[in-house]
Amino acid sequence: MSKRKLSRQQQFRIDKVQQERLARAERKHEKIEQTLASDNLSEALDGLVIAHFGATLDIEDAQGNITRCSVRSNLPVLVTGDEVIWHADEKGESQGVIVALKERKSILTRPDYRGKLRPVAANVDRIIIVACPSPRTPVNLIDRYLVATAHDDIQPVILLNKHDLIDQAPEMLTELSQYEALGCETLIASINSNEELQAIKTLVADGNSVFVGQSGVGKSSIIAALLPGEDIRIGEISEATGKGRHTTTTAKIYHIPSGGQLIDSPGIREFGLWHITEDDLDKGFPDVTDHAQYCKFNNCTHTHEPKCAVKLAVDEGQLLARRLNSYLSIRDSIDEVTMRS
Ligand code: GDP
Ligand code: ZN
Repeated sequence: MSKRKLSRQQQFRIDKVQQERLARAERKHEKIEQTLASDNLSEALDGLVIAHFGATLDIEDAQGNITRCSVRSNLPVLVTGDEVIWHADEKGESQGVIVALKERKSILTRPDYRGKLRPVAANVDRIIIVACPSPRTPVNLIDRYLVATAHDDIQPVILLNKHDLIDQAPEMLTELSQYEALGCETLIASINSNEELQAIKTLVADGNSVFVGQSGVGKSSIIAALLPGEDIRIGEISEATGKGRHTTTTAKIYHIPSGGQLIDSPGIREFGLWHITEDDLDKGFPDVTDHAQYCKFNNCTHTHEPKCAVKLAVDEGQLLARRLNSYLSIRDSIDEVTMRS
């Protein structure tokens, strides 16, 4: 049996699968268009995508009712947090059809299992980077998270959790004030103090927030404190889909009883940072790049060159040495990825 023959058969099968897929998509498209042409539909309604499961999405209307919707095929990929226009359809297979996407304020991206960046949530207003004194969050990891938030142009907030354990790494308070001096919003908290928990509630009281950070910093504890008891609506969605495996990975919106919304999924909470570019790096380190424009050489690497304004800024106490070290080490890791790919 020749290899060639096998590969032809394989090609045939691949083509067939592809054709079937296209035909299915075409049938679905026709069905949606037929529904849209019928008079079964309600008037145009505002909706919020609260969870997405491949081809169907759960959307919430202004009254808080949840409807399973299909999506008109001319729309881009919709994600949790998207605001849409839709029509209810009492008689159709899905209970509604989404026909338009409203303008997005922001889009949070994450690499998928192949390393390709994909949108995972829309209209995120702030990314809360959680750090803590025990186990001590390495400060250069906070720098890395800041670069990742710069990638998506979403406002970062650094939350130093486990304030009750601050004696184990008191220098973190100084680091926090250094981030404040860089213009980054910060908050010190502990879930063991009602007053400090209230400060977290106030922080998230409007708009859509996401929590990120290393395992063990207290993200689940904070989220559990913000959403006391099980969020009933979320429970109902999981049952309705009957697809348990999707419910654990897709991003969902939770309404916080004290105000605001939380967008959460395991993939959002913890993520790799290797998808960042040099541009993101520069955006995440304005303190370094502000000086870089005065280096003698345009392509100065700020390591060994004479008349390097960045190194001079460190010597003169205008730039923290540890920030420059973070910058250089993150830049090295970007170079490694570029060389490998
Ligand atoms: P996650 O991995 O980021 O979700 O972290 P967890 O929420 O699972 O918390 C890790 C551990 O830290 C748990 O044992 C929590 O009880 C504990 N923890 C969370 N917040 C605080 C806090 O404010 N103070 C103290 N002392 N422990 C906390
Ligand atoms: Zn330089």
